[in-house]
Amino acid sequence: MRWFNLRSESFVVLSCIEGDGIGPELFEAARVVLDSISETFDLNFHYVNAPAGDRELKRNGKALPKSSLEVIKESDACLKAPVGETAKDTILKIRQELDLYANIRPAKNLPFVESKFPNVDLVIVRENTEDLYVGRESIDASGQKATALKVVTKRASLRIAKYAFEQALSRQKEHNNERKSDPSVICVSKSNVLPKSDGLFVKSCESVSKKYPSVHFSNMYVDSAAMNLVRNPEAFDVIVTSNMYGDVLSDEASQIAGGLGLAPSANIGEHFALFEPVHGAAPDIAGKGIANPIAMFLSIKMMLDWLAKTKGNSDFNRASRIVEAAIHSVIASGVKTPDIGGNANTNRVAEAVSQEIRQVSKKCPLRFPEI
Ligand code: ATP
Repeated sequence: MRWFNLRSESFVVLSCIEGDGIGPELFEAARVVLDSISETFDLNFHYVNAPAGDRELKRNGKALPKSSLEVIKESDACLKAPVGETAKDTILKIRQELDLYANIRPAKNLPFVESKFPNVDLVIVRENTEDLYVGRESIDASGQKATALKVVTKRASLRIAKYAFEQALSRQKEHNNERKSDPSVICVSKSNVLPKSDGLFVKSCESVSKKYPSVHFSNMYVDSAAMNLVRNPEAFDVIVTSNMYGDVLSDEASQIAGGLGLAPSANIGEHFALFEPVHGAAPDIAGKGIANPIAMFLSIKMMLDWLAKTKGNSDFNRASRIVEAAIHSVIASGVKTPDIGGNANTNRVAEAVSQEIRQVSKKCPLRFPEI
């Protein structure tokens, strides 16, 4: 079914991947929050299921059936819960098929969540379509030698660099110039060992940096970045890096900012985007009802920000701010899952956030100005 006739700037066809492990529990929680957003604002989410992942592989032999890919392609945006062992055949394929080239992974402290560093507010901009993730691996007949191909193109490196510099500028605007230091982009690579492939990535970033004189630009090797993230994460603003380094560093950054249960992400392309928590399907806690839904809710917040831009409707901006305020308020009230020191279950947190969305927007409709 095509949705084009129904589409307006407040109507969103949302493809939904419920995923595996803690995925379905988190998706249920996400629906509670999305429904409260729809009720509170003049926004309308139409959910379309796009089954994918381990359970789908078991059910019909394909982790990402063509029909699901079609549903995703025809939707406005996709919200995805984590999938299990089939991540390579689902999310990697979706990223490639839809050319979702920018993986945005913020790491930011939340008020009232303990973390080792109090002022972490950084974002990793990860190139999402190339590098070792192109999946070209082979092993010779003897089984003694395996090879993996690392692909870096100038085109992909330039566009991710541009995205990173634009992020730095928009973050500066968002912070109302409150940050003590200038906006900065740090390009993370291992160009001393891989001067051709990572070298091309670095050169591309350097050439884009010339167009952004107000953004401080520097290079850092990935080993040094890993060390500095645990030593002085507050010094980072925007990190731009290739696929594999970005994957590893973003898990590290999420721990620094308070834990995997709080880390959202966006996969952005020219005309489409998919939003998902950074964490995996966490089989160790699946079915226990204790998964932290905040990473999922913050992914919804990122989606609302993106929808505000693409649909040109500032109601999405207002909704995004109220979702964030509601999350802060619920955590401050002590309603938290065990991973961040509370004893609430997933549903309780979802209900509290959705109730807060309704309350906050009623109490202070003018608190969040249009931007
Ligand atoms: P993947 O390889 O798919 O990224 P993983 O095996 O590295 O997955 P995760 O599934 O992300 O790991 O989980 C790592 C640990 O973090 C698990 O032990 C899990 O209990 C915990 N964890 C992950 N997500 C959450 C969450 N939303 N709430 C609470 N704990 C979580």
